[in-house]
Amino acid sequence: MQSFYEATVTRSSAYAPLAGRRGANVCIIGGGLAGLSTALGLAERGVADITVLEARQVGFGASGRNGGFVFGGYSLDCADLLRTLGAARARQLYALTTDAVALMRQRIANCRIDCDATDAGVILANWFDDPARLDVQRRLMLDAFGVEWEPVSTQQLAAQLKTRRYHGGLFERNAFHFHPLKYVLGVANAAAQAGVQIHEQSPVVRLQRDGAGFIVHTPNGALEARHVVMAGGGYARNVYAKVERAVLPIATYVMATEPLGARLNEAMDTRAAVYDTRFAFDYYRPLPDTRILWGGRISVRERAPEVIARLLRRDLLKVYPQLHDVRIEHAWGGLMSYARHKMPQIGRSADGVWYAVGFGGHGMAPTTVSGELLAAAIAGERPVPDAFAAFGLTPAYGALGLAAAQLTYTTMQTRDALAARRQRTRADL
Ligand SMILES: Cc1cc2nc3c(=O)[nH]c(=O)nc-3n(C[C@H](O)[C@H](O)[C@H](O)COP(=O)(O)OP(=O)(O)OC[C@H]3O[C@@H](n4cnc5c(N)ncnc54)[C@H](O)[C@@H]3O)c2cc1C
Repeated sequence: MQSFYEATVTRSSAYAPLAGRRGANVCIIGGGLAGLSTALGLAERGVADITVLEARQVGFGASGRNGGFVFGGYSLDCADLLRTLGAARARQLYALTTDAVALMRQRIANCRIDCDATDAGVILANWFDDPARLDVQRRLMLDAFGVEWEPVSTQQLAAQLKTRRYHGGLFERNAFHFHPLKYVLGVANAAAQAGVQIHEQSPVVRLQRDGAGFIVHTPNGALEARHVVMAGGGYARNVYAKVERAVLPIATYVMATEPLGARLNEAMDTRAAVYDTRFAFDYYRPLPDTRILWGGRISVRERAPEVIARLLRRDLLKVYPQLHDVRIEHAWGGLMSYARHKMPQIGRSADGVWYAVGFGGHGMAPTTVSGELLAAAIAGERPVPDAFAAFGLTPAYGALGLAAAQLTYTTMQTRDALAARRQRTRADL
């Protein structure tokens, strides 16, 4: 079962592997959205001689496999961002992500990226019969971040989402969803048109310090680069330990149903994308060809597509039992990179290596932020904002960290299940 995204793109231009030895001003390791946004940001600032090295194919990682939600914020939730940074700096970092949403819209228009962008907002649906959860979130977004998330009553929501699972929601209007792989390929194409060299099938196997710069080795070539940017997400191994030790690769899963035709409206009568208020939430959206693309779960394990399809189908039917007989045509997983503090790590190490990693499950806008920040810093326009220094390359403790992450996930999942069960019991009394 191929990913729906891979099955629906034509990769017209393969980028040749790096061969031989040459020089570059900037070498970017990783052809995901973090790496490619940096490349495009540099090219737009007039910086020449940029090379992107991608181990497999452009968009092979999380950037070409994700749920396709594009909205403000980071993996760290806004309440924790505020607690950690205080009002002014939290607002500054949040605003970078809404600017990035605008920049992505602009790039889609200016670079004519045909990526099925659906500008219909995102609904946060309340899994719990507890209106306070939404009220607290709505007030926080308004008071601390100046963003209006509009309340949607239980009745209004039931008219759009044909399920009894939800108890109202919040509507984030300034959000859209898209085919992420088409977008990533579009950004790569725009960067290539602007002079960026992209090499696929070029895994970096060694990074060597060389005077004021670096030598970046791949199996069939080497680049002598003045600047190096590590943007390998959850997929980088044995290249630069300082960055790799600071993130955990965590898997999450997605599937796509068969096209539902008119039956789509029996479940979803909205073009908005949806996620819910649980820690381990479902996230899903209608596709232009009437499929539902459905994602969820977090695990330290990558699983086979058949297993993913079975698990996610169960989740889908909990919400939309009326879809019991639909076929699942695609299922796949992807690796996110998580820091312990759940914020992206964007900056430059003491050895001079630039990095942009740790975007977690909320990376479309934040990778675009990192591209702009690193491009501006490398071009000498302005340094990366101090506020990111609060979220440095803290050790993630490898296997131990993964075990702790799985335990946290299971605990939170159990807590949410118990809360939902308590509510059902109260309602039955
Ligand atoms: C299933 C799933 C659903 C998600 N849903 C959403 C969503 O709806 N909205 C949202 O905002 N975010 C979502 N995310 C998160 C988002 O996709 C990521 O945060 C973001 O794509 C990270 O981008 P990246 O460029 O850092 O990493 P990646 O996209 O993983 O790119 C890293 C690239 O580096 C390459 N690489 C690794 N090592 C080397 C090496 N040694 N040499 C050369 N290249 C190398 C890899 O092959 C890969 O292509 C989701 C993630 C997943 C996995």
